Amino acid sequence: MHELSLCESLLEIIEEQARVHHYRRVRTVWLEVGRFAGVECDALRFSFEIVVCESLANGAKLEIIDIPGCGWCFDCGAEVLLEDCFEICPRCGGTVQITSGKEFRLKELEVE
Ligand SMILES: [Zn+2]
Repeated sequence: MHELSLCESLLEIIEEQARVHHYRRVRTVWLEVGRFAGVECDALRFSFEIVVCESLANGAKLEIIDIPGCGWCFDCGAEVLLEDCFEICPRCGGTVQITSGKEFRLKELEVE
């Protein structure tokens, strides 16, 4: 399950931040997850609990911020909203370059 390794990397970032900013506990973790990041939110929450249970983020709340998929059309130059990764331009049927929706990023931490 790749959500598990994503959470392990996330915890490394959190622990690094804790060393730099000297905090002892993490209460809430805000995570940006793009529509096309290939992450299953239930699996992510499940993995998060397992990975953080022996860390300073034990019991922390995981807030997932859903980032919609957006793209730019090569043919008509429009910015379009995409439902799936392979969608063609809804305006002209042209080829779309994905500009957002692949994020997996730590946005913010609530700490004490
Ligand atoms: Zn187009």
